[in-house]
Amino acid sequence: MVDTKNGAPVLGLDIGGTRVKAALVTREGRITAATQIDTPAGFEGMQQAVARILQELSTHTSGVGGLGIGCKGIINPQTTRVEVLPGTLNYLEGHLLSDLVPSTLCPNEQIAADNDARVALAGECAWGAARNRQNVLMFTLGTGIGGGILADGRILRGTTGVAGHVGHLTIEPDGAACICGNFGCLETVFSARAFESEAWAALHRGVETRLGGTDGKRPSCADIFECARLGDPVAYRILQIATRKLAAGIAGLVHVFDPEVLIFSGQIVESGDSLLVPLQNEIAARTRRLLRRDVPVVRSELADPSGVIGAAALAIQLDH
Ligand SMILES: [Zn+2]
Repeated sequence: MVDTKNGAPVLGLDIGGTRVKAALVTREGRITAATQIDTPAGFEGMQQAVARILQELSTHTSGVGGLGIGCKGIINPQTTRVEVLPGTLNYLEGHLLSDLVPSTLCPNEQIAADNDARVALAGECAWGAARNRQNVLMFTLGTGIGGGILADGRILRGTTGVAGHVGHLTIEPDGAACICGNFGCLETVFSARAFESEAWAALHRGVETRLGGTDGKRPSCADIFECARLGDPVAYRILQIATRKLAAGIAGLVHVFDPEVLIFSGQIVESGDSLLVPLQNEIAARTRRLLRRDVPVVRSELADPSGVIGAAALAIQLDH
């Protein structure tokens, strides 16, 4: 899928709530120059800042072969329009991401844009754990759950660009209210936020646990993994129950999409070495009978927490 001819390097741009990151990336997925800035507070500031960092990166090459943009929210990949984007980046809603890019640097037809989770999967397809695969489910486990679905060789977008929001799979019909308007979504039971609120609720009930620490601060997701590792039964149980629910949700998706591999990335995967083995075992136990095989659970292979390599992969796919 990736053009490895003598093509010019491409630019990858990742627009996040706190940082905007950009890099010049070769056709082999190698970063040759990179930069980042604090996220500006308005559209004009964003336009000026993005133009500046992209111009700066383009001085490292004699020609730019395309540009890919990853951004939170619902992005129309045909037009690069930001359709829905709640939160601090709300000012981008209704704008074309291609309007952030100076026309002298890259013509519109060489600009690709998509939701950041789908961009991460595009990167894995080009140079990572989804390379040469046709059917893959990817999960980014952090403050929420992001995801992407590669089905029969295509990254699914759906009718309105929402496809792949695996964090909003209903897991408890009468569960907690979710930011999406539904109740009991997967990310209300398995996410940094969900663990932290469970831990806080346990402390509030006066349960005996190491989770309170000595400073009285609310335990973070990393604190909960650490307490579980040290044998705290309350922390351990919070993670055990949540992992079982995550596995149950993923087992449903495995039956629907029949993937070759399940790829995991994100802050929780980094902080919880003990997570992936029990997760794989539980998913396998729930799916083995129909699939007659165990679907491998692997970590993301791209050292790309910044998202810029995935964004570059998007630009290269546009060539085809
Ligand atoms: Zn939801």
